[in-house]
Amino acid sequence: MAQQERTEKKNGCLAQPGKEKDMKKIAMLNCLKANEICTGASCFRAFLRKEKSFERYRNEETELAAFFRCNGCGRDPLTDAGIQEKLQRLQEEHIEVVHVGVCTKDRAGKRCETIQKIVEQLESRGISVVDGTH
Ligand code: SF4
Repeated sequence: MAQQERTEKKNGCLAQPGKEKDMKKIAMLNCLKANEICTGASCFRAFLRKEKSFERYRNEETELAAFFRCNGCGRDPLTDAGIQEKLQRLQEEHIEVVHVGVCTKDRAGKRCETIQKIVEQLESRGISVVDGTH
């Protein structure tokens, strides 16, 4: 068994080869603070029903392959080893698109600066970013 497969099996996240072949792999990025009160239910519902920002995939096979959060206010993603590891993992998982939750914006609709930096890093790694989930 290959090293990576062993590691993923140990971590309980071994992908099922073949199953994901023609699927568009999608991830969601949300606010860590919002996580204190948010179950993610609306995001998951919108994804499963292909509504709201997921409507664009109506005629495509999609897989929600990752759901991650920032590492909190005041932590610069550029120097945060944990964020860098998450970005690396998304690439290894061949995530094509990351949807960024509305919880990452302030009341005026401005995106959090930390999230904006993560978005820029995603895009520099060739991963598309879509504003919004539900
Ligand atoms: S850095 Fe932004 S997205 Fe992350 S917890 Fe703080 S406000 Fe939320």
